[in-house]
Amino acid sequence: MNRARLLVFNAALGPLDYRVPEGMAVEPGSVVVAPLGPRQIVGIVWERERLPGSEVPDSRLRPLAEVLPVRPLAPPLRRLIEWTADYYCAPLAAVARMALASGAALRGGGTTTEYRLSGREPERMTPQRAAALDALVDEQATIRELAERASVSEGVLRGMVNTGLLEPVVVDLDRPYPRARPDFAKPLLSEAQGAAAAVLENSVRARMFAPFLLDGVTGSGKTECYFEAVAAALDEGRQVLVLLPEIALTEHFLRRFADRFGTAPVLWHSSLKSTERRRAWRAIADGGAQVVVGARSALFLPYADLGLIVVDEAHETSFKQDDGVRYNARDVAVIRARFESIPVILASATPALESLHLAANGTYTKLDLPDRFGGAQLPDVRIVDLCTDQPERGRWLAPPLVAGMRERLARGEQSLLFLNRRGYAPLTLCRHCGYRFQCPNCSAWLVEHRLSRRLACHHCGHQVPVPEACPECATPDCLVACGPGVERIADEVAELMPEARVAMVTSDTLSSPGKVAEFVEMAESGAIDVIVGTQLVTKGYHFPQLTLVGVVDADLGLEGGDLRAAERTYQQVAQVGGRAGRGEKPGEVMIQTRHPETAVIAALAAYDRDAFYAAETEARRDAGAPPFGRWAAIIVSSEDEAEAREAARALGGTRPNLPDVDVLGPAPAPMALLRGRHRYRLLVLARRSAELQRIIREWLGGLDFPPGIRIAVDIDPYSFM
Ligand code: ADP
Ligand code: ZN
Repeated sequence: MNRARLLVFNAALGPLDYRVPEGMAVEPGSVVVAPLGPRQIVGIVWERERLPGSEVPDSRLRPLAEVLPVRPLAPPLRRLIEWTADYYCAPLAAVARMALASGAALRGGGTTTEYRLSGREPERMTPQRAAALDALVDEQATIRELAERASVSEGVLRGMVNTGLLEPVVVDLDRPYPRARPDFAKPLLSEAQGAAAAVLENSVRARMFAPFLLDGVTGSGKTECYFEAVAAALDEGRQVLVLLPEIALTEHFLRRFADRFGTAPVLWHSSLKSTERRRAWRAIADGGAQVVVGARSALFLPYADLGLIVVDEAHETSFKQDDGVRYNARDVAVIRARFESIPVILASATPALESLHLAANGTYTKLDLPDRFGGAQLPDVRIVDLCTDQPERGRWLAPPLVAGMRERLARGEQSLLFLNRRGYAPLTLCRHCGYRFQCPNCSAWLVEHRLSRRLACHHCGHQVPVPEACPECATPDCLVACGPGVERIADEVAELMPEARVAMVTSDTLSSPGKVAEFVEMAESGAIDVIVGTQLVTKGYHFPQLTLVGVVDADLGLEGGDLRAAERTYQQVAQVGGRAGRGEKPGEVMIQTRHPETAVIAALAAYDRDAFYAAETEARRDAGAPPFGRWAAIIVSSEDEAEAREAARALGGTRPNLPDVDVLGPAPAPMALLRGRHRYRLLVLARRSAELQRIIREWLGGLDFPPGIRIAVDIDPYSFM
């Protein structure tokens, strides 16, 4: 090859052609450095026919500067990047960038200097130093990262280096990870587990594409089961990727993994330190990382020899990314497995309707674990009708639930209350004039957080201290909290049962892996009587003493009424209910609702998942909704409301006129203002026969918008805000 066409990571630039200098070897997938004007840029060599560009004569080409010391991206990964860009209508470069997630890693090798506390006593103490000494116990990182963790300036830390309070440590950037051992602690599987595990193991060894839906009730031991497939891949010397929906779950997972394989897996998520990120990336690319556990971004990494992908809690909506490249990691995982010719396992107790549909039509092989492991029974479900069993005035927990919690406390067992709302109250208003606190940047109320004494927007992060007086009418002490959040429920529990030890579990309280570990430890050792939490507590955890789960408001998720509202409610309640009675003692779930007759509540009470999904499936079929039709959302936004409206109208005016495509809108989005941008939505409903992506690309490509306009295309949308 004496010419190379590069994919470069600059949205404004198309592909660029370069000359390959004498003696330099490049191939498709090579990661290279090239001159661009006075600068040097990183690019990936791509097939010319797949990256069309203008033909520049050889004589005018500049030479590539350097080939970086990393393995070229393999064809299956390059095809995955192209597929993802194509399917989600995203720029190729934006997808490719996810594969090279660590810029530093591309150079590789060498050492870096990190710092840690030396243990020496300071001669001169300042408040900043005291804060740093406190915050940095057991931490070791670069000065910049330590400064961030301790919330002090880098200057303060440099001063501490000079006075010997922090000591340098030289770290080998590429030191290998400890080896996982497939036979370290093999469990004795139940019959159903053994049967499913055998199918999965065989499939790993067969090295062919095979998608599985591992469908097992909560507590059935799905993890143990797919660990056998992981063991088979390790045995074959191949790599495994396990995708988890939330970092909060990894702590628990890591422990179970280490118990089974003798060492921790390699972690990948957005809050890794830069050195950890770089080390992980290089080990992934050279094969040293045997098992990678990560958030959705781990999906695009350049594994040297991937042998298996597992998507755990595969129904979780957090696999859908809602900014940048709007992809669904669950679906892309299946595509990657297809390109790599390997099996992929989607594990869930409450699979997405789409996944069940694909299993029913034979696309996925369904493996069932119908019973809890070790003979534990599924919990009894009891519906608490809030219209007849009313909580006391100003309270949210109905008498039967309170009585149930009191019984558990007396017996030394645990209760868990679930409410998917952070903070104290979702709305604050002035008793005197009716003023409501609203976010200036978003169409949303400010949520009171009593612990931090702030009113906060959960969409953009805007926050203000809770004022003494109403900002509108200046009446002092007149603000009232409307409705409950978890903080308010925790307060109610403390008032009802002052002797109970209450723990609150939200993204505000479990903000680091250390805090998650601490919580799990306390819950397991019985140091907590009542857990009050958001969706963070609904899945993954296994606390044997937990025998009562109370769902504070099962109707909450049904309010918005989007496509998946009922399905999501079913999943959340079934998942959180699944935390009850996992040990020897039987569990009970109490579901508070004002609408016990709703199909989803009735199905939960009767454990009739099949009937619920069958009815949902028919409703979707009638509506031509996914998986029977294909939907796409187009969001037009601008800081200027008139500009956004105008652009949305222009887009609506040129809508495609095709028999198998309907376009709804434009209409102001439910979140008409988000982070200071005014938003309009269009929804494209297509029959499966329509070439949705091509239609959208041609439609949008034919229009020119002012620079202040942003157009986001969301294929298979999950958010309808
Ligand atoms: P699920 O993910 O299906 O809800 P888990 O994988 O968390 O279920 O398993 C539930 C509990 O049962 C866990 O504590 C797990 O360690 C235990 N368990 C499951 N299978 C086995 C087995 N074969 N041998 C020993 N313990 C098991
Ligand atoms: Zn806001």
